[in-house]
Amino acid sequence: MTTAYEDVLALAREVHLLDSSAEVLAWDQETMMPPGGVEHRAKQLGLLSRLSHERGTSQRYGELLEACADLELDPAAAAEVRVLRRNFARATRVPASLVQERSEVTSQAQHVWADARDASDFRAFQPWLDRILALERDRAACLGVPEGGEAWDALAEDYEPGMRAADLERLFGPLREELTVLVKEIGETSPPSDEFNRTAFPVDDQETFVRIVATAMGFDFRRGRIDRSTHPFCGGSHCDDVRITTRFHDDNVGDALGSTMHECGHGLYEQGLPSDRVGTPLGTAISLGIHESQSRLWENHVGRSRSFWAWCAPIVHAQLGAAARRFDAEALFGAANVVRPSLIRVEADEATYNLHVIVRFELERRLIRGDLDTADVPAAWNALYAECLGIDVPNDRLGCLQDVHWSCGLIGYFPTYTLGSLYAAQFYAAAEGALGDLDGLHARGDFAPLREWLREHVHRHGMRFDPDPLCEQATGSRLDAEVFLNYLRGKLGPLYGLA
Ligand code: ZN
Repeated sequence: MTTAYEDVLALAREVHLLDSSAEVLAWDQETMMPPGGVEHRAKQLGLLSRLSHERGTSQRYGELLEACADLELDPAAAAEVRVLRRNFARATRVPASLVQERSEVTSQAQHVWADARDASDFRAFQPWLDRILALERDRAACLGVPEGGEAWDALAEDYEPGMRAADLERLFGPLREELTVLVKEIGETSPPSDEFNRTAFPVDDQETFVRIVATAMGFDFRRGRIDRSTHPFCGGSHCDDVRITTRFHDDNVGDALGSTMHECGHGLYEQGLPSDRVGTPLGTAISLGIHESQSRLWENHVGRSRSFWAWCAPIVHAQLGAAARRFDAEALFGAANVVRPSLIRVEADEATYNLHVIVRFELERRLIRGDLDTADVPAAWNALYAECLGIDVPNDRLGCLQDVHWSCGLIGYFPTYTLGSLYAAQFYAAAEGALGDLDGLHARGDFAPLREWLREHVHRHGMRFDPDPLCEQATGSRLDAEVFLNYLRGKLGPLYGLA
């Protein structure tokens, strides 16, 4: 006789087998598949998604979850049931007709958005944004707005359990204010040279170089792969088969390194999940914000530090040839830390990036509340860019049409990027407090203590704790933007000669 708990976990694992099959097909589509495969692949993914949804929302699944309420469970098992119940409730509260309509509308809206962006014509996209916002408001009503909260909260729960707009407002307010000042001060100085980032190196040499760094970080190539794709991502099927991708340009090795370290950070999180819990909540990453903290920690706190470049400079010189040898460790460190306000979020540096995110959060919150008319989005966007980043937006293509997210119905997603930065700073500071001189270790290329600290305090827990308690348990305090601001000031202040 098996218990309801064992039966429900067996079902969860089956749903994960379907989802992880889709993941591998999606990875293949981005890296290997010839263009001719597109139509058939869409059908394969569509079927897998339908089967997964049917199993994951079946009456039997619901009954088993109900039956689990009567069982005496140890804390780990109780955490699994709590997460499965939450996911089940969210998956079953929205009627199939609304799910179907959202899927059709967003699929068309993405095409309309791509054309509108190319033509820099927001008016063409505006009616679709109106439809998406209406659908998202309906979805929020079905999901249930948390007590004292707002519709935006109900939507964001998919990406960051427990995240509330009012909490973000408290975190982001001071962050916006202080970053605006810091970026303005930096703008009045002369930046370090970014010539290294613009120097051409053979792509094969770049690939050898970034693989050396990934290996030093501890990415396990027996349980993972690195391939190339247009947009880097981390996929794969489970912790023992993690697929990350990166990209190369002739003359931007900084982008190749940053992308590789970023995706490797995601990959280390996936490889650090417990392999005996595959397909259950304890074997699954908790949230997008925590996931992003792992990628940003390696990309920024490690990869843009002076100690990293002290270790890495001789490797750069050996792997990238004569053209690289005129850049010493200090020049490489400088090139990795060029800060300049710019128009495009995905190309933004570490200091300005979060201002791009805060602008989007403020706008989408007002849109969902109905406080901002879609017709006024371009003007509101441009005003916020002038205010926060001190730059003029010349057109909608480089402004409010640059991101795909809203056309996909992803309302509540953007802030997870900035939460990632804030969690990363807090995890790094806690690791440093526990391990001592991380700079000394990293200058020798010894990244194992940091990786193992993250594994112990973040990775191995899977979804056992929500992001907030996880942070508090790992770092001793709740999320606080001040840790990130101190880190940024501590690094950029001396580099830019700020008082
Ligand atoms: Zn990421």
